[in-house]
Amino acid sequence: MATVAELQLKLRRPLELELQQGCQNRAVAGGMERLLENFARPFPKVREALRGYDALSPDERVGALKSALDLLTPPTPAPAPVRRPASRVEVQPADVGGPLSPDTELSRVPLGPGAAKKLGSLGLHTLRDLLHAYPRRHEDRRALPSLAEVEDGTRVTVEGVIVSKHRRTPKPGMLILEATLENPWGERIKCSWFNQAWIEKGLREGTRLIVTGRAKRFGRSVQVAVEHVESVADAANSLSSGRIVGVYDSKDGISQDFLRRTAHTALSRVPLDDYLTARWRAQYGLTDLGDALWGIHFPHDEAQLERALARLRFDEYLFLELRVLLQGEDAVLLGKRFTALDRDMQAFEASLPFRFTGAQRRVLYEIADDMRSERQMARLVQGDVGSGKTAVAACALYLAVQDGYQGALMAPTEILARQHFANLQGYLTPLGVRVGLLIGAMGAKLKAEVQAQIAAGELDIVVGTQALIQEAVRFQNLGLAVVDEEHRFGVMQRRKLLAGRPDVLVMSATPIPRSLALTAYGDLELSVIDELPPGRTPIETKLIQDTARRQAYGFVMKQIREGRQAYVVTALIEESDTLELLAATQLADDLRVLLPEARIDLLHGRMSAAEKDDVMERFRRREFDVLVSTTVIEVGVDVANATVMVIENAERFGLSQLHQLRGRVGRGSAQSYCVLVAGEHSQKTRKRLKIIEGSTDGFVIAEADLKLRGPGELKGTRQSGIPDLKLGDLTSDVEIIEAARTLAKHILAHDPKLTHPGLAYLRSELQARSSQVAYREVI
Ligand code: ADP
Ligand code: MG
Repeated sequence: MATVAELQLKLRRPLELELQQGCQNRAVAGGMERLLENFARPFPKVREALRGYDALSPDERVGALKSALDLLTPPTPAPAPVRRPASRVEVQPADVGGPLSPDTELSRVPLGPGAAKKLGSLGLHTLRDLLHAYPRRHEDRRALPSLAEVEDGTRVTVEGVIVSKHRRTPKPGMLILEATLENPWGERIKCSWFNQAWIEKGLREGTRLIVTGRAKRFGRSVQVAVEHVESVADAANSLSSGRIVGVYDSKDGISQDFLRRTAHTALSRVPLDDYLTARWRAQYGLTDLGDALWGIHFPHDEAQLERALARLRFDEYLFLELRVLLQGEDAVLLGKRFTALDRDMQAFEASLPFRFTGAQRRVLYEIADDMRSERQMARLVQGDVGSGKTAVAACALYLAVQDGYQGALMAPTEILARQHFANLQGYLTPLGVRVGLLIGAMGAKLKAEVQAQIAAGELDIVVGTQALIQEAVRFQNLGLAVVDEEHRFGVMQRRKLLAGRPDVLVMSATPIPRSLALTAYGDLELSVIDELPPGRTPIETKLIQDTARRQAYGFVMKQIREGRQAYVVTALIEESDTLELLAATQLADDLRVLLPEARIDLLHGRMSAAEKDDVMERFRRREFDVLVSTTVIEVGVDVANATVMVIENAERFGLSQLHQLRGRVGRGSAQSYCVLVAGEHSQKTRKRLKIIEGSTDGFVIAEADLKLRGPGELKGTRQSGIPDLKLGDLTSDVEIIEAARTLAKHILAHDPKLTHPGLAYLRSELQARSSQVAYREVI
């Protein structure tokens, strides 16, 4: 039967290739036995002839291959070509012509009329672009030998001859084409096409098709909703059927077949010389570049695809790390050079009512080392709310002042600026340091006064919002700028702009997973306070359904009767102040009914800074019991007597945000509670919220959030300059990233500018992959 001949042909080719290549078991990725498993099922004699191939000596292999090839000689001449359905794009062997440089413009490569323009519209301009435009996903379209193996609901590729066809128009504008195929084993497959009139011409009885689509089982018969069809004559030479095929990012009017053909051309024309030496590849367990690039576009099997992904992912991070490290060299900016005496640190600690934790002490030493170096400090201190970042920053500011410099602390909001001001006064005034506050809410006259004091050096430290400090203030001698929360992204750019180029310390209570930190921050050094001061009782968190809300507020009432206070937070419905206000007001009204004994007040984004401060101040003084609020209390506000937080519609918040909100309670020594009230939500959301319930460790939560939502959705990461990784996955690649970074460091340690002739390929690849001008200048 002709189809058997096709299968024979498919098997013959790799066997012949193996023979040509000297029987090293290299012609087939994954090895000969793998091939037999996949394709030789209908040919038991062939399997027998090649059994145990891996273990045979080269001589024995020659014999085995020859007898297998004899068995595979087609019993009938090759079938006459079948006419193709009109809709098919022709697959042409593209590998004619000599080698081309990867930088060759596509307009100069014979790819067919209009091809360069089409590819250009996808952002592909050179052969290199084609090589690295990897498939978005892969589909297994290896033809299955028998329907017995087709599982319901999966995507399958099947092959057969059209034995009947049918068209239906159940209502105007709807066309359903159906064809029944018979496969070589006499089994029948029903195929259907929905509203694809152009397919009809190609559906002729006697035509043999390979179809790919989603399968439905009805007892022993199988139906396929066809997504891709080819006639077998094409498929014999096809890049799109009978194999694992890549599916590329595309757009209307640019077919997958076209993209596969162009990728094939690029792979065939460009010499795929490896820029990693064999030694490095061995050391990091990587396949060679040719195997990887062929393998990602046209994998023989899963094993090759896996090898390809591992290698290309590694490369992606390697170039990223090389770039970061080379830029880092460039970005050695001179900052302040402090003496930062141990003696002063000890004096500061001695003035505290507590001792630093081990983590605080470690981070302080890291900061002091930076301060002593002439390089401008750019350090990020991460730690959960309450881990003692502010205390550490206060100490660093103290060191700067002891060296005769001024310091600044920038907060994201005025409320926080006030709170920091109060805290810093508490830490530093007893030590004779003059601390000032500068915020928009102050009167013009007072502001002018403070500014004059700053300019004259009569204030040592000024606390304010960021804008004020950047734009209006003239310091006499600014040495250290501390930036609190939120503004971590973009700090690097501002770091150069800050007048007088002070050392910069950023504090963030939003823990960032290590993989993100490694890639996103480049030369920003990272310190982590991963230990809470002793004596804290972890917040107890409970996730409940809407329906149990009443009980939750019963619990809140109990706490209030014990003299405690509570936060109730509602999610923003939209980015609209009016709606926000409505939601919060509505909630407060509800609660007045639900909690008749409690004194309830409201905080929302429509209030002026002064009004907000007034509400917070009265809450702090216990003038009321329940503070209903929108997320404006998200960061940093401390009320030690507040022990309960209820978060309504918790499903609308991100995990890190929930974690930060929750950090508003548990600021005192009493046991604190957080109740997450979930409205309507999916299973996935529930899983997410369960994480908050189960952990109080911000890093654990951030890792989990990253896994569930992906880096793009993590707050702030979009603007962070994280490159769009094609293959890399920050949620799971920490090990690869670290390996790539190790190799990058190793390479640059021996050859900081990549000038060694042996690194020429690596260097040109790096240059080509980077569009950044500044970076091009470095190497
Ligand atoms: P963060 O800025 O990380 O939120 P803070 O520095 O504001 O943390 O510290 C939170 C609270 O814990 C403050 O009241 C602070 O005085 C106190 N604190 C800080 N460090 C310690 C410590 N080592 N031991 C005990 N209490 C501490
Ligand atoms: Mg703080």
